[in-house]
Amino acid sequence: MMMVAENIAGLKEELPENVRLVAVSKFHAPDLIMEAYNAGQRCFGESRVQELLDKERILPGDIEWHFIGHLQTNKVRKLVGKTSMIESIDSERLLRLVDDESARAGVVSHVLMQVHVASEDTKFGFSPEELLEFFSNRGFESLKATHIHGIMGMASNTCDEDRIRKDFETIHNIYRQIADDATLGLSGFDTLSMGMSGDWRLAVEVGSTSVRIGSAIFGQRQY
Ligand SMILES: *Cc1c(COP(=O)(O)O)cnc(C)c1O
Repeated sequence: MMMVAENIAGLKEELPENVRLVAVSKFHAPDLIMEAYNAGQRCFGESRVQELLDKERILPGDIEWHFIGHLQTNKVRKLVGKTSMIESIDSERLLRLVDDESARAGVVSHVLMQVHVASEDTKFGFSPEELLEFFSNRGFESLKATHIHGIMGMASNTCDEDRIRKDFETIHNIYRQIADDATLGLSGFDTLSMGMSGDWRLAVEVGSTSVRIGSAIFGQRQY
């Protein structure tokens, strides 16, 4: 078996059945993606708009593309309609823009709200307070062509397992607070995307429903 297929088979065996595997293929060539595809993988994650579009154009049409990187506002129009999920909505301004462009294109965009809890201040996302406020103010009600399916988050980039677990627990708590609030009347708010190659086991233990795994499938990226 090829390495990529082996890695996917190993992950599939270990992941609980209800946890989605997003294979993060950023910086990897289409032939490597096809190895994963031929091993049955259909959901792939990309972090740059042009790279996603280039791959989407030449790879099989039943691939579900998840956008997971910082989305610049001037690239929203190009991306809308090409993804099955934008996981990285990191500001209300971006959300409104995705919504406007989706309505304009006559499509519905499926998105996750990115929450920032990690210690690095370079990471994008809503603070926990901002995100809870967005939902309690019912900011989702005015969306015309966008469905919010849940939350995406990352733990601090550290080897300290306790810290990583705490970050995941914080993200999970925010997710539960929103998902369990019946007064919000949300439907299909059922996705908690957290966990990468180095920390996905912890994330799944804490309650992740979707993991984003790159290097543990495809090997190291050449930037
Ligand atoms: C690159 C990336 C991943 C995958 O990281 P690996 O450590 O290679 O598994 C997951 N999530 C996001 C947001 C990323 O940018």
